[in-house]
Amino acid sequence: MAEKNVIGENMVVSMAYKLSVDGKVLDEAGDKDAIDFLTGHRNIISGLEDQLSGMKKGESKSVVVEAKDGYGLVDESAIEEVSLDDFDKNVTPEVGMELQMKDNSGQEGFAKVISIADKSAKVDFNHPLAGKELHFEIKIVNLREATSEELSHGHVHSPGHHH
Ligand code: ZN
Repeated sequence: MAEKNVIGENMVVSMAYKLSVDGKVLDEAGDKDAIDFLTGHRNIISGLEDQLSGMKKGESKSVVVEAKDGYGLVDESAIEEVSLDDFDKNVTPEVGMELQMKDNSGQEGFAKVISIADKSAKVDFNHPLAGKELHFEIKIVNLREATSEELSHGHVHSPGHHH
């Protein structure tokens, strides 16, 4: 039997956090708007979840997640030449513009325009945080065992959110 008062698999964790990249705070959630997630179901990046194992309610920790365990390394093949005809008619591509679009394999994702030529633009489909080391300050606000329904769905059910 897994211990009930430390983080292991199949637990629902409420976590306050602050995420910094390159010394800049990108995202944070305090005790009151802590995120809830189910462990062991890839609800959060593995490089962060792996380092939470064994923590108790009320504990805080600084966690550094290497790029390869976070949003991945920069993939040069994810930088593609896109015909200007393929952009949405309502969009005028500009260098540095961030948008959602489909890559050559039809997968939708983040995209950032790197350069623009006569008939095409170079577009980077890597996640904006690819290649970045992630610095988290985290605090375990609450901890409980997941219900069997949550386990079968693979995510947390909170009051007012059920599907
Ligand atoms: Zn559900």
